[in-house]
Amino acid sequence: MKSLQDNCGLFGLYSDAECAHDIFQGIDLLQHRGQEFCGISTFDGSMHQISHYGKVANTFRDQDFKYLRGRCGIGHVSLWERQPVMWQCQIGEIAVAFSGNITNAKELISSMKMRGKAFYRGYNIEVISKVIMEEPDVVSGLQALAEKVKGAYSLVVLTKAGIHAARDVYGFRPLILGQGPGRHVVASESRAIQNLEMELFRDVRPGEIILINDKGFETMAQLDSPRTAHCAFEWAYTASLDSIIDGVHVQEARNNLGESLAKRDIEEGGLEADIVAAVPMSGIGHALGYHKRSRINYQEVFLYNRYADRSYTQSSQPARQKMAKRKLSVLHYAVKGKRIVLCDDSIVRGTQILHKVRDLKKGGAKEVHVRIACPPLMYPCDFGISTRTYEELAARRYIKTGNITSLEQLRDLEARMADEIGADSVKYNTLDAFVAAMGIPKEDLCLMCFDGKNPTETK
Ligand code: SF4
Repeated sequence: MKSLQDNCGLFGLYSDAECAHDIFQGIDLLQHRGQEFCGISTFDGSMHQISHYGKVANTFRDQDFKYLRGRCGIGHVSLWERQPVMWQCQIGEIAVAFSGNITNAKELISSMKMRGKAFYRGYNIEVISKVIMEEPDVVSGLQALAEKVKGAYSLVVLTKAGIHAARDVYGFRPLILGQGPGRHVVASESRAIQNLEMELFRDVRPGEIILINDKGFETMAQLDSPRTAHCAFEWAYTASLDSIIDGVHVQEARNNLGESLAKRDIEEGGLEADIVAAVPMSGIGHALGYHKRSRINYQEVFLYNRYADRSYTQSSQPARQKMAKRKLSVLHYAVKGKRIVLCDDSIVRGTQILHKVRDLKKGGAKEVHVRIACPPLMYPCDFGISTRTYEELAARRYIKTGNITSLEQLRDLEARMADEIGADSVKYNTLDAFVAAMGIPKEDLCLMCFDGKNPTETK
């Protein structure tokens, strides 16, 4: 997708050997979750920390690993801020890294300022750290955090006791445990565990606080969870295709979403097309699913420039558009004279899909039929991902208020969207089809950006 914002990747490792190289590899495997900043903290009796502006593989140097001594540590990749952050407090030395968004940060900052606390920039990570550090130990700090903070977070905290890992009580952001000989690990995604030759252990439960040290994993507290609300975008877009998020293979979910789009086309009379193609990379799983169900040949129509950044993480719209151009070039040989079914994960502002359709038509495509895995995006996300304003959402240009309540309304939106982006047709998955493809009960998902229902306000 094109406007995800505050996504981050977390990694924590307790090892029987020096850990910095493994943490480096772990956050490198999570690079797709944020490319602006990266950092590692390790502990060997003292805390060591290095963060960089840029990507993991481009920024860490040999001398960094000499400095990052210790058998336990945490790492982070981000779009917005340097993490982990390191503090000295009553608990001792502490390093904290998190993924998510705190929606009542302003209120918390004001009330803490009234109590004499100072803030550097008022970043979410400062708020989180200060709430934790007001308590006598990390577990009570994390319990206080769950009580005081609204929003979504997964986090890791490094102290002399080991690594505490926690997930908010709704489980918005993923967090998974793994292990291998002499190593215990926690990561935002399973790929960072499996590609480091370790086995998956299990997902951290919503509201669970776990301590990881040389004895392994210990649940220190299980906070009450009013309901589960995993972010549905993890499967549709955010997570890597080779990850397993909360027990569901991302690849399987994306294939199902593509199949479901093909099923709708078949049920609505069939679509005559020569090839099914994807907007790389996140459209690939959807396109393969469409191909499987429709039996229309799969063909790549864009060459993905692996040296260009993923466009959503560019922080301004002009930068995103420039990067999108650099990222994908048309494969003219595959495109000329073809009727193309083009699959993508979602339409946010509509500008990128417009450019893709335009590029394909300019490249000689006879028809371009756009198929979108997610239902129309109708609401901003309150929990740290996605566009922040209604004005930015393409679907809101046509449906000003409320939700899509009928297939007719959806079809009307699709026809207008097709006109806007110059496609021969546009279809989305309905919300019901989207949820069914995911294979997770609707009541365990956050779907707020589609239906406006805030999971923290519903039981
Ligand atoms: S509102 Fe949308 S993007 Fe935000 S957590 Fe919920 S499903 Fe994910």
